[in-house]
Amino acid sequence: MKLKTKGVACCIDNSIVARVTFDPLQKSESTVLLVSDRLDASVIANFDAIITTWPLDEQFDYPSVYEVPDFDHLEEGDIVAIHSDGIINTLYRVRSQHNFLLFTERCNSNCLMCSQPPRDKEDSHLAQLYKRVIPLIPKDCTDLGITGGEPTLLGNLFFELLILISSELPLANIHCLTNGRSFAWPDFTYKLNDAIGGNLVLGIPLYADSYLVHDYVVQAKGAFDQTLLGLYQLARFNRRIEIRIVLHKLTIPRLKKLARFIYRNLPFVEHVAFMGLEYQGYTPHNIDKLWIDPKDYAEELSDAMLFLADMGMQISLYNSQLCLTPKELWPFYKRSISDWKNIYLPICDSCSMQDECGGFFASSLKFHSNNITPFI
Ligand code: SF4
Repeated sequence: MKLKTKGVACCIDNSIVARVTFDPLQKSESTVLLVSDRLDASVIANFDAIITTWPLDEQFDYPSVYEVPDFDHLEEGDIVAIHSDGIINTLYRVRSQHNFLLFTERCNSNCLMCSQPPRDKEDSHLAQLYKRVIPLIPKDCTDLGITGGEPTLLGNLFFELLILISSELPLANIHCLTNGRSFAWPDFTYKLNDAIGGNLVLGIPLYADSYLVHDYVVQAKGAFDQTLLGLYQLARFNRRIEIRIVLHKLTIPRLKKLARFIYRNLPFVEHVAFMGLEYQGYTPHNIDKLWIDPKDYAEELSDAMLFLADMGMQISLYNSQLCLTPKELWPFYKRSISDWKNIYLPICDSCSMQDECGGFFASSLKFHSNNITPFI
């Protein structure tokens, strides 16, 4: 799915953040008009900017992006950022349940299977952009993700954005992916408590019951201790926590032990998500270290998940294919892959269970299990 397009910019000095509309009569604050017809000066004057498939028209001295190949990927009400170089990024899609805000690309971990490898550069402009995006998000938004990098590295800006989300979108479920390490500092967790209430769930990875394995997977010495401290600090404030475990060759050997560790030491977590590997970012480079066919870890996965389920903990299996999932885990199977990167393989065309199956990440076209078997 396309989330970015580009045209020829005219009269745009600073980025414009706005909702898109196809209706020339729909002028409201922070709106851009999408035009696939010849420009009419009396109409365009009402909008923050115009996006058009037409060629540059010298007679209009107006913020515009011309010669955009198409805008088929945009829907009425989607939120875009239009930049001075003519790039138009889609930042929020009204029809999607998978919207997320990438707070920063910086991270203090460097996981071997990171799908969005961190970039160590100052990018607080993203937070400033989101300060303009968040008030435009429809008030009936039900789900919004926060991701990174490591969002907490924004420090006070992280809390400013959470406060804004909390006041603008009080009804939305907010899911924030974080390595949890920043919460080892009580002051930091205390500030979180002031910023946002119970509609926030923190998704925190824990890859083993051993610091040696966890720290190796995340490529950061001391990360295991900090994450555990963070989890306990968050528990003190009754924060909602999801533990996330990515399934690969380094995490499978201790998976059964990890499940028991979570039950004994982290019984306060609300949800444990077991997640298939995404062939993206660092993973292709580390595939020899990471790849294990889901068929080959079925026994360990069933043991770990069913143990936690038996103990009354809430569990889910994400990013997996139904034909590779043991039947006893089907009750916990979720179609979880974000719509904009979710595909099925040609072999899936004949599968009778495709509607129930979550399919693949788009990157799986390049690499996937050899054991995909359509149901008859
Ligand atoms: S064959 Fe394809 S659609 Fe069917 S269960 Fe397997 S991955 Fe899913």
